[in-house]
Amino acid sequence: MKTSLYDFNYDQMAELALDFGWKAFRGHQIFQWLYRSRVFNIDDMTNLSKDTRELLKEHYIVNPLTLVKKQVSHDGTTKFLFATEDGSLLESVMMVFDYGKSICVSSQVGCNMGCAFCASGLTKKKRDLTSGEMVAQVLYVQKELDIEGDRLSHIVVMGTGEPFDNYENVMNFLATVNHDRGLGIGARHITISTCGIVPRIYEFAKEHTQYNLAISLHAPNDELRDKLMPVNHAYKLDQLMEAVKYYGEENNRRLTFEYILLKGVNDQDIHARQLSKLLKGYNAYVNLIPYNSVDEKGFKSVSHDEAMVFYDKLMKNNVRCTIRKEHGNDIDAACGQLRIKEMRKSE
Ligand code: SAH
Repeated sequence: MKTSLYDFNYDQMAELALDFGWKAFRGHQIFQWLYRSRVFNIDDMTNLSKDTRELLKEHYIVNPLTLVKKQVSHDGTTKFLFATEDGSLLESVMMVFDYGKSICVSSQVGCNMGCAFCASGLTKKKRDLTSGEMVAQVLYVQKELDIEGDRLSHIVVMGTGEPFDNYENVMNFLATVNHDRGLGIGARHITISTCGIVPRIYEFAKEHTQYNLAISLHAPNDELRDKLMPVNHAYKLDQLMEAVKYYGEENNRRLTFEYILLKGVNDQDIHARQLSKLLKGYNAYVNLIPYNSVDEKGFKSVSHDEAMVFYDKLMKNNVRCTIRKEHGNDIDAACGQLRIKEMRKSE
């Protein structure tokens, strides 16, 4: 397997050029070809000599992903199923908002976090995605948008996988797409979502990036969170909230708590009260998420009216919140569903 040139951030690309005995400027040129001209073939890098291109081709490729399947929803949501060089499947989703177009990127092949409601965890983690494989998801979709003269304005790392279980590669990927000589997607337009790996939250807080942080909470007490999210056995709610507080103090940024409303499970009056108490004093808001039902899991989503009742209860307790708009509910939109379906076909 050859390495993808997408694995190198701007500074690393300059080092790569130096390693070949070239000037650092050649790294800059390659970066321009990848992120401004967005070529997929090294041969298209026409200001490099033929020898240089041949040498690059001996060691590297550009795009490490192949499109396997694409599904387009009536609301514009588009799902991409990709295969890696070693034949693993992964998904990315492009969503259309009034503020722009956003891509949901996968960070691992499968996931080990084992959340009770999630389709991604139906298959264990096979491996971490490389930084280049994450860059490639964004570039592939951006290249499709190039045809219409459009662009991705936002990135959420909320696809299959736990980004804080693949920390370095995720940070390297974001450095490239955020770099002003890369895709130049603003840090405040980038969101990383974690199920709550506490040591990584501290590490992230200390980096003082401008990326947004979202915490998948989904339960307001340990007993319920233990059942829904095994990560809670390792890091209890008080540890999580302590880490989140530290992040807030270090970064002076508002953060998001994600809360899927599961009918009869975490949507009762007591949960609204516990949640309000838990979040008191935090500079945060809650994103209430309609559940995308996953056949194997047995959970049910609440109706819009039921979600509004929960929303009102939080608002009354001065917890800011929003209800996430559903996207692509006519296609296999829940994280990892398309991938699972395709894998089952070949079993
Ligand atoms: N592992 C990370 C990021 C991937 S999951 C995390 O846990 O945050 C991204 C978000 O989608 C999480 O909040 C997750 O709990 C949620 N999610 C998972 N399955 C879902 C489903 N079927 N419907 C709605 N949201 C789901």
